[in-house]
Amino acid sequence: MPTLDEARRLILGHTRTLGTESVELLEALNLVTAEDIVAPWDMPLCDNSAMDGYAVQSSDCLSAVRLRIAGTVMAGTLSDIAVESGSAVKVMTGARMPTGSDAVVPFENAEADGEYVTLKAVVKYHQHLRLKGSDLRRDEIVIPAGTTIRAPEISMMASFNMSRVTVFRRPKVAILSTGDELVEVGQIVVPGKVVDSNGVSLAAMAKECGAIVQMLGIACDTVQSHVEKMSTGLQADIFITSAGVSVGERDLVRQVLTDLGVSFEFHSVDVRPGGPTTFGRKGNCLVICLPGNPVASMIIFAELVKPAILKVMGYRRILPSTVRAILQESASKRTGRTKLLRVRLESSGEKLLAYSSGEQATGMLKTLLRADGLAVLPAECGTVCAGEEVEVHVLSSNVLMQQETI
Ligand code: AMP
Ligand code: MG
Repeated sequence: MPTLDEARRLILGHTRTLGTESVELLEALNLVTAEDIVAPWDMPLCDNSAMDGYAVQSSDCLSAVRLRIAGTVMAGTLSDIAVESGSAVKVMTGARMPTGSDAVVPFENAEADGEYVTLKAVVKYHQHLRLKGSDLRRDEIVIPAGTTIRAPEISMMASFNMSRVTVFRRPKVAILSTGDELVEVGQIVVPGKVVDSNGVSLAAMAKECGAIVQMLGIACDTVQSHVEKMSTGLQADIFITSAGVSVGERDLVRQVLTDLGVSFEFHSVDVRPGGPTTFGRKGNCLVICLPGNPVASMIIFAELVKPAILKVMGYRRILPSTVRAILQESASKRTGRTKLLRVRLESSGEKLLAYSSGEQATGMLKTLLRADGLAVLPAECGTVCAGEEVEVHVLSSNVLMQQETI
């Protein structure tokens, strides 16, 4: 039985990107560039003014001087008005610098009277200018292939006049819930039935990663229903099922997938919660079967499925983000098996403190709602005592930024 890390490595070992596609700039948010983005020109494209003021020749202005105003250049206009010795040209922020000028005097350092302006301070060469190419040089690789596209990357590409960008394709992730006890969200629930929350929670997590989600609904506990839904699921890039992978009498998942040609790499992982997680492949489709318990299925999604989706999408940082924190209450566990403890994180000076976010039985969903992360209690230890430092996989990155709530 693989450990959690070994299971992740096995899955990632079979995970590949899916080729590339061109998408509109805004659609590329949170996707990954598949090509180097190269500056098509110098930025700025020409010397321009960084202030509203007067373009002057700095050598004219070594002491307070009075200059004739020769005209005005607005941003975005082409003008052939030049600055000569003894003259100044009014320029607005972003305006191309007139020929002959080499500095800008902001309005607040000048006093205009009619056609003349008196400068109140000494002027330095190149002051308040944005020089051609000072931000970027033409042909410079500004965004290397493999970069996650966020707002600044979109801004940069837009400034290069790009309306589309080539990115790694998003995987199609099919999601299937299994079990006769399930009813769809919004349907009538009678005692003994359970609302299919896994379908939507796993879909939400896949969507958060950027995957294209295909909801297959519920397979009831017949071979025919499983075969129908699973044949569709196996057409996806990643096929996720929940429940029916333990040793229950009606646990058909493994059998039907085997009959449909899936070859399995492992049937359980040495971790709690989430032990019965199963992984196999058919062709290029990765098949990950999660336990039915909502907490276990979400935890294993975060630990094993999310890294695989991110790898397909071309992300470089795909492993759970990790911090170290001091455990505030002792946690009992069995030696020989990794335990993932749901914890709240609080900062205290330089340190992070990890508090149990509540009752840790797998069925307690509320404990996951309150959790900022999963403390990884290593297989080799027994009870981990309060005061010990543990590794925590962060579930919500907000927690590390938030100082105060408003
Ligand atoms: P199983 O893995 O089939 O033994 O299911 C374990 C527990 O998870 C049972 O209590 C199920 O009722 C519950 N469960 C299974 N599938 C779902 C689902 N899709 N949504 C919510 N709970 C589920
Ligand atoms: Mg079951």
